[in-house]
Amino acid sequence: MLRTREDVPVARRHKPSTPQRQLPIAPVVISVSVALGGGLAALFLLQERLLTRWSEPLPQVVQGIDARPDRYGRLLGHFPYPEAEPDSLVEVRPGVQLHRQAAEALQALLAAAHSDGVRLSLISGFRSRETQRSVFFDVKSLRNQSAEERAKVSAPPGYSEHSTGFAVDFGDRSRPQTDLVESFESTPGFYWLQNNAHRYHFRLSFPRQNAQGLSYEPWHWRFEGSARALEQFQAAQRLQTGRLN
Ligand SMILES: [Zn+2]
Repeated sequence: MLRTREDVPVARRHKPSTPQRQLPIAPVVISVSVALGGGLAALFLLQERLLTRWSEPLPQVVQGIDARPDRYGRLLGHFPYPEAEPDSLVEVRPGVQLHRQAAEALQALLAAAHSDGVRLSLISGFRSRETQRSVFFDVKSLRNQSAEERAKVSAPPGYSEHSTGFAVDFGDRSRPQTDLVESFESTPGFYWLQNNAHRYHFRLSFPRQNAQGLSYEPWHWRFEGSARALEQFQAAQRLQTGRLN
């Protein structure tokens, strides 16, 4: 007859204990420290990575502007942007350069617009930080504007989407008088962009009453069709869709 566990007297239920092996202290201490150190390093790197997601590139103070970047790195409403590497830029029209990841999509967009009878012009693409500095400060002094007033319509150096090589200013060749002014919104070019630009991953950066509090710019579109472009515009996009603040 099989004996169940209940049949075994309590005193005999315990297995005889095996003699304990003495672990050498030094290797144990070393492996525990290595494991702990590794864990801490991983945590540190992770935290570092989380922090840099928001602070990259580091928000900078701009000489000549008293305002300071806010907790999201924004200066007077503009997010900080890195400058495109020179070898990532290609010429899309004489004098207009774009990041190569955006250039191909832009050519396809222009070709499609053209075959729909819409004649878009490219007013501006990549702008270096230095060019942006003159765009910001020269016009500011010409118009006798405060930094705050100027920042409503132009980004301070280091804070322009144009510096990434992923932003373009479009014009409509049939209405050149609307170049870089709000009435561009009444052109066939703008109408076409509104209906078709998304097919080429271009998005209007500063719609009317945008969350960044900047002026409406119907001519200014940014490319979001590559991982790099998306990463750079992530904060602006989150703000636009109400997921920041
Ligand atoms: Zn622009």
